[in-house]
Amino acid sequence: MTDSAIGILGGTFDPVHFGHLRPALDVADQLGLEQIHLIPCAVPPHRETPLATAQQRVALLLLAIKNNPRFVVDERELQREGPSYTIDTLRSLRQEFPAKPLYLLVGTDAFMGIQSWHEWQQLLELTHIVVMQRPDETTAMPDALASWYQQHLVTNDDVNLAGKIIPVKVTQLSISATQIRTSIANGASPQYLLPDAVISLVDMLGLYQQKE
Ligand code: ATP
Repeated sequence: MTDSAIGILGGTFDPVHFGHLRPALDVADQLGLEQIHLIPCAVPPHRETPLATAQQRVALLLLAIKNNPRFVVDERELQREGPSYTIDTLRSLRQEFPAKPLYLLVGTDAFMGIQSWHEWQQLLELTHIVVMQRPDETTAMPDALASWYQQHLVTNDDVNLAGKIIPVKVTQLSISATQIRTSIANGASPQYLLPDAVISLVDMLGLYQQKE
């Protein structure tokens, strides 16, 4: 679509894993995005406080992306007080990139809960939303979400700076950070679920050793 557009993947990244990285790259390739900003949240509004500190999660992210110049670790949510609302992050990105299309990447699981996000009705004024779908996914959305989805679903290539919902099929990787933390706490190896360099730093910092 455009090579000067920015993709945004927010998350806890506790720790970052291939289930974040590969789908983000799939989207960057399929939509021709210039950069993907990986944005670790400080205080997630919808979940418990991460086990690793913000600084540790950033260090893990930096190792994970070091061979991909299109990926950027963006610390803006860590520099803000209070809960990490996506809408505030989008406003700040829009200010920084007034003329670039923004694409907010969300997994289907996150998209299903999007109508509970702070000021969710304003999201499409600031960004497109890319719903990262599993190849064989058939999603039954609640009625209110399905009508919002249909209303904004992209139908052709002439997308603007914001306003469309774009489903994209991504590599199916059944990996979660929870599964990785549990494996480590149980003394099992998380190898091949996340980059080796990230595992080495997790080990060095002694992260996720305690059962949650
Ligand atoms: P946790 O297990 O701690 O809940 P997580 O692995 O789901 O963490 P998050 O940091 O919460 O990771 O996820 C950030 C974003 O990445 C969300 O939009 C989520 O839907 C997406 N995501 C996470 N894992 C995958 C995966 N395996 N495939 C596709 N998208 C994913």
